[in-house]
Amino acid sequence: MDKIKLYDELVNVERQLETMLYQVKEMKPVLDDLIEENLNLKLENQHLHDKLDKLEKQEVAEDGRQELSKSRLNLEKLYEQGFHVCKDFYGSRRENQEECVFCSSMIYGK
Ligand SMILES: [Zn+2]
Repeated sequence: MDKIKLYDELVNVERQLETMLYQVKEMKPVLDDLIEENLNLKLENQHLHDKLDKLEKQEVAEDGRQELSKSRLNLEKLYEQGFHVCKDFYGSRRENQEECVFCSSMIYGK
């Protein structure tokens, strides 16, 4: 390689390096933006997940309450038809529609 050619080659490499440096400088703020956006999306995603979990738990709790009140309604119906719904006398007739505190606590208790 003669000296002139070497010099040209060097100038060429220098230009390429300058171009690359310029490109790197251009890419940096874009990458910064992407990192920030990614972080924000992660946070938002976590936030939405938490919200969804909360909603699902709430729904389960509401279902539980509805089930409970439904079964209490059934007990109440049975009781009004003249049957015990308490543990000790479940299914037996209430003589003369007598009141039963155990039945009442089963239906209305807690
Ligand atoms: Zn009873």
